[in-house]
Amino acid sequence: MTTPYAELMARSRDVALLSSCSSVLGWDQQTYMPKAGAAFRGEQLALLAKLTHQHATDPRIGELLAAAGSFPEDSLEAANIRELRHGFDRATKVPARLVEELARVTAAANEAWIEARAKSDFAFFKPHLEKIVALKREEAAAVGWKDHPYDALLDEYEPGATAGEITALFAELSAGLVPIIREITSSSTKPDRSILERDYPIDRQKLFAEAAAAAVGFDFAAGRLDTTTHPFCSGFGPGDCRITTRYNPRAFNEAFFGLLHEAGHGLYEQNLPADRYGEPTAQACSLGIHESQSRLWENLVGRSRPFWEHFFPRLQQTFTSIADVPLDAFHAAINEVKPSFIRVEADEATYNLHIVLRFEIEQALMSGDLPVAELPAAWNEKFRTLFDLTPPTDREGCLQDIHWSFGGIGYFPTYTLGNLYAAQLMRAARQAIPALDDRMRVGDFRPLREWLVANVHSQGRRYRAKELCRRVTGATLAVGPFLEELRGKFFRLYNVC
Ligand code: ZN
Repeated sequence: MTTPYAELMARSRDVALLSSCSSVLGWDQQTYMPKAGAAFRGEQLALLAKLTHQHATDPRIGELLAAAGSFPEDSLEAANIRELRHGFDRATKVPARLVEELARVTAAANEAWIEARAKSDFAFFKPHLEKIVALKREEAAAVGWKDHPYDALLDEYEPGATAGEITALFAELSAGLVPIIREITSSSTKPDRSILERDYPIDRQKLFAEAAAAAVGFDFAAGRLDTTTHPFCSGFGPGDCRITTRYNPRAFNEAFFGLLHEAGHGLYEQNLPADRYGEPTAQACSLGIHESQSRLWENLVGRSRPFWEHFFPRLQQTFTSIADVPLDAFHAAINEVKPSFIRVEADEATYNLHIVLRFEIEQALMSGDLPVAELPAAWNEKFRTLFDLTPPTDREGCLQDIHWSFGGIGYFPTYTLGNLYAAQLMRAARQAIPALDDRMRVGDFRPLREWLVANVHSQGRRYRAKELCRRVTGATLAVGPFLEELRGKFFRLYNVC
């Protein structure tokens, strides 16, 4: 006789298995699928999405949740029930009609966005975005919210976070960032970026990046690396995690840091509790925490001086084009700070201002304060305020990101939350691991990785992000550690006193 709890866990595992089948097909679509297979793949994915949704919203889950009884507050069982109930409530509150309409509208919107961006023609995308905003407002109303409709959307990516908290955090962040960026950009020290645009043969880039990913601990016996237009990480399940990157023979940065970023996501996926696969708490905590793992390895480790003290001699052996370059010049080049129009090309410091802008715009779209027709003007005005620059076209402004075309309103803040969590976790790791920099200088990343596995990865979703942060770092999320990290590195590199 199985208990309601055991049946719930079995059903949760089925939903996870179904959705991982979609991930396998999605990965294949981006990597090896022949172009002619697109329509058929669409049918396969649509069927799986329907089955997954049916399983996740089966009324039997509601009955089982009601019958499950109560468990000690801090137990794993209680956390599993909490997460399952949360997911089930959300999924059943949104009517099937709305789910289907969003799928239909976003499929068309995504194609329109590709064309609109190519031609820098906002008017072409406008009617699609208007439909999406209307549907997302409907979704927020169906899910329910207390202070701001945006909270209902944010909750899908960062469970438990609210627009109010993020507004306060981001206000403090911008106030700290703007003067730091001003100091850096007005310094007469300028890194020589051309070092990164020399000859970097692709086959050597691949070998070098793979070696670095393996050194930080990405397990290639339980994962693989492939090439795609847009880099991503997809953890299928225990023992199988796929990461991708893209190569440019005249740009070192793109593939290397792209891969290190995805390897950071991959390390997280590879170290989630495999023995409990399918339980709600065995998945990643939130998008913000996921992003903290990629940014930590990409920026706080991969763009640090100790990391390159270890890897630079090998880099120079691999790429003869930089045989004459001193380590200092290389380290400065990979840390160039320069305000620019495109978010995905932004450096560690200016990146977050791009997110602040999107966060403000999204809230105004959701509250109805900003009509879609006024989006380009609002975007450019905010851009001027934050960067003192005006995007020359909408392609370099409000049309640059894919997110809104798939309905991903509420997603952007998780990138900056990731940066903040990364810095706070890194500070805690430094306190826990003696001479962490010295270990990295000799290429020993094991202590840091093991600390992250024990404190973050293996915890899965047992605690919500805010609670995980408090337990691991002893404090609630704050902007201080991130700003200090920036001042520490960039003021030294740019000779700011
Ligand atoms: Zn990422």
